[in-house]
Amino acid sequence: MAEQFDVVVIGAGPAGYHAAIRAAQLGLKTACIDAALGKDGKPALGGTCLRVGCIPSKALLDSSRQFWNMGHIFGDHGISFKDAKMDVEAMVGRKDKIVKQFTGGIAMLFKANKVAAYYGFGELQPGNVVKVTQHDGDVVELKGTNVIIAAGSDSIELPFAKFDGETIVDNVGGLDFTEVPARLAVIGAGVIGLELGSVWKRLGAEVTILEALPTFLAAADAEVGKVAAKEFKKQGLDIRLGAKVSKAEVTGKGKKKEVALTYTDAEGEKSLVVDKLLVAVGRRAATKGLLAEGTGVKVNERGQIEVDEHCHTGVNGVWAVGDCVRGPMLAHKGFEEGIAVAELIAGLPGHVNMDTIPWVIYTEPELAWVGKTEEQLKAEGIPYKAGSFPFAANGRAVAMIEPAGFVKVLAHAETDRILGMHLVGANVSELVHEGVLTMEFSGSADDLARICHAHPSLSEVVHDAAMAVSKRAIHKAN
Ligand SMILES: Cc1cc2nc3c(=O)[nH]c(=O)nc-3n(C[C@H](O)[C@H](O)[C@H](O)COP(=O)(O)OP(=O)(O)OC[C@H]3O[C@@H](n4cnc5c(N)ncnc54)[C@H](O)[C@@H]3O)c2cc1C
Repeated sequence: MAEQFDVVVIGAGPAGYHAAIRAAQLGLKTACIDAALGKDGKPALGGTCLRVGCIPSKALLDSSRQFWNMGHIFGDHGISFKDAKMDVEAMVGRKDKIVKQFTGGIAMLFKANKVAAYYGFGELQPGNVVKVTQHDGDVVELKGTNVIIAAGSDSIELPFAKFDGETIVDNVGGLDFTEVPARLAVIGAGVIGLELGSVWKRLGAEVTILEALPTFLAAADAEVGKVAAKEFKKQGLDIRLGAKVSKAEVTGKGKKKEVALTYTDAEGEKSLVVDKLLVAVGRRAATKGLLAEGTGVKVNERGQIEVDEHCHTGVNGVWAVGDCVRGPMLAHKGFEEGIAVAELIAGLPGHVNMDTIPWVIYTEPELAWVGKTEEQLKAEGIPYKAGSFPFAANGRAVAMIEPAGFVKVLAHAETDRILGMHLVGANVSELVHEGVLTMEFSGSADDLARICHAHPSLSEVVHDAAMAVSKRAIHKAN
């Protein structure tokens, strides 16, 4: 007999664990199932984000940034040192410790909130029953008045470049190289490719990023893409656009293994030989084996579970959230959907505003944005005015030797309501939230311009950009 729950969540990634904890907080009897194992072979909650995504990548980005700064920035501060070396094993070990701390933290939060954790693979059966095949082979059945599917996503594998976990890798392998590869190629100049490419570049690898699209960071505001490309070039990241890879052949043995790549760009066929290949061409919803015959849950041509604007699948009591449904594949989008669905189930007004989801790329400088780009506003015929301000004119940024980048505020030409904010520079992963907050409150550029910002601070760049919308920035000519 299946054990009865108010809510059964499949997947304990950002979307699933938020849904489960919020449901339990609201007094609903909740179970959460996750199949993942950590590097130590033990169950590890937290999904892609905590195990092999957001958190471990930021740990390596931070370690590699410290190392890079020693060679590139410390001298300007008057600091000299001898023989700086990177111990890759120690760096990866630190990252693993952080992962263990945070995945273990979710298990503790489940306990504290009385979420019943099941470790194994869940398959949704008709009638809201989830069959769980646990790691020891035992099978249990859980019946949920509501089932929330939060199965997340997996890396897309290219048919000619199969992952071997060593020479041709995805994010999992790219976070765990045992030494700095002398030559690294990355297929895909998206968030993951740029972040992991930056990590290994800063540690001394020769990094070539091959991007099939002719435009760099096509989803970002064009000005952000332009400034970012210039900064990355200065750092020595070799980004080749319009480069379509068709072949990846592994040759040699042991430490002598190489990957011979064939790609075509505007000039014709080219080849590139590297020591490691990181494939970062995107992620696909993880729905394999998830849905038994007859559940009624629909999967679209992209493999995503179909849902309405409230994350409901159309099957009574079955919801889906996070990377396995439409929308940006971002942890915080999953957080909000998980919470919203738990609240809807409890009869509260859960809602996610897709127009104010921030995007961040944690490179150096960082890139961030929220809302519409200038290109989108032009294409949609929306009248707008723009105000921007460079970090190079901000006292704090210059004192920190972080003068690269700018903040741009886009506001409606008639109402002054902020429609988008685009940032390149130091700590913009934090600053972007000034835009998110103002947009959530339907605020105007003038509202932001009239808010007192501490001096000297990087957030003054946001303030000055908001003032520049109405040509009254104090620290630059308007
Ligand atoms: C290298 C990298 C860096 C990233 N950096 C960022 C970042 O900085 N910021 C950001 O917002 N996003 C980042 N992301 C994206 C982010 O990790 C995802 O958007 C987020 O993890 C999605 O959350 P989710 O809960 O939908 O799915 P996931 O995190 O993928 O979790 C799904 C969980 O469900 C489990 N599962 C799946 N199917 C079943 C089943 N049938 N039965 C039981 N368990 C199942 C999986 O094992 C997994 O643990 C990054 C991703 C990568 C790869």
